[in-house]
Amino acid sequence: MALLVQKYGGTSVGSVERIEAVADRVLKHKQQGDDIVVAVSAMSGETNRLIELAKSIQETPDSREMDVLLSTGEQVTIALLSMALMKRGLSAVSYTGSQIRIKTDSAHGKARIEEIDTTRMRADLDAGRVVVVAGFQGADEQGNITTLGRGGSDTTGVALAAALTADECQIYTDVDGVYTTDPRVVDTARRLDKITFEEMLEMASLGSKVLQIRSVEFAGKYQVPLRVLSSFKDGEGTLITTEENDTMEQPAVSGIAFTRDEAKLTLKGVPDIPGVASKILGPISDANIEVDMIVQNVSADGTTDFTFTVHRNDHDKALGILKSIEKELGARDTLTDARIAKVSIVGVGMRSHAGVASTMFKALAEDAINIQLISTSEIKVSVIIDEKYMELAVRALHSAFKLNVSASGVSEV
Ligand code: ADP
Ligand code: ASP
Ligand code: MG
Repeated sequence: MALLVQKYGGTSVGSVERIEAVADRVLKHKQQGDDIVVAVSAMSGETNRLIELAKSIQETPDSREMDVLLSTGEQVTIALLSMALMKRGLSAVSYTGSQIRIKTDSAHGKARIEEIDTTRMRADLDAGRVVVVAGFQGADEQGNITTLGRGGSDTTGVALAAALTADECQIYTDVDGVYTTDPRVVDTARRLDKITFEEMLEMASLGSKVLQIRSVEFAGKYQVPLRVLSSFKDGEGTLITTEENDTMEQPAVSGIAFTRDEAKLTLKGVPDIPGVASKILGPISDANIEVDMIVQNVSADGTTDFTFTVHRNDHDKALGILKSIEKELGARDTLTDARIAKVSIVGVGMRSHAGVASTMFKALAEDAINIQLISTSEIKVSVIIDEKYMELAVRALHSAFKLNVSASGVSEV
């Protein structure tokens, strides 16, 4: 008998039929003797619908009210799923985040979970009930409803598993595991049986939305056994693990992530003198804008070009700031480009393989894809390219690093 926390995403609860199918799966586990806590997302499309509703009234919706609104999506699903479980003769009880006392900080729209009170859940489990918890939400010290950011139900699932020291946190979604890259973009992508926390963390932060990054951080920190599985077909899924693969030779690259979420800004011809970088990035950080890549060129004539990337949503705000300091800095011009994509290769195997970056650059060059910026860390290399070549680049890299199903000899999934 195991204690399992199962999280079902938006597509998995996207219709009444699918909610019934989730209830069937939970029933099967209950019949095997498992104790089950379920965390659910809103029905697919619902969170987007609510965001549009809010924006049709307030261009920048009030953040507290936005969380009150968005949390309703998940509240619908917990009630419907509990009813479906009851229909199957199971005893079930639903809770919103605040009812179950998922305590968060007060950062509306991106709140962090601080504490979960497990008393009530334990009592329910002891009484044989299935506990159904609304994902993506909590409440702050003052009882204000908060939400955890897009994809936040993953984090609810992992946090519940950590608080309850569950045997496994199972993330049920619309793909049957973590793939070498998004299987919707590369149809030869291969499901991984295992991936390390370190790699999954990089993949998530570089754009693979199969798991919310905070859920991976949480699972790593509290050592929660985490598995990604399909809610539509049976299988082992992908286990996120601390072990590195030592039975086989570790491939250099385990996966490829990509995102269109960034924009690039360049200040041309700024004087190459001490303090310039901080004069540029100081006001950017004061405006709460996160900077990703930063590149400063070698100066030729005492001036240099200074380039950085930000989230695409912050492009206009960042441009406004640069325009306002351009003159004072003595810069020639400000150029920006929001039509870029970041493509990254990720793998712990990079530590022991030489020439990984050059294989990447060669593959991109063969498809005549120009690299605009490069950044590296121990287990990843990222490049910024024109967004129109993003899918081409991902496919080229997927085959250059021999990740395709056919190339590896792994059977079709
Ligand atoms: P859910 O609603 O269940 O939370 P998401 O849409 O958030 O589902 O995440 C699942 C999606 O993540 C998949 O449909 C897939 O398109 C995408 N995805 C991106 N990168 C990967 C990857 N490396 N492996 C698997 N899925 C990925
Ligand atoms: N419903 C929320 C979203 O769409 C949370 C989640 O699905 O994980 O982002
Ligand atoms: Mg998700």
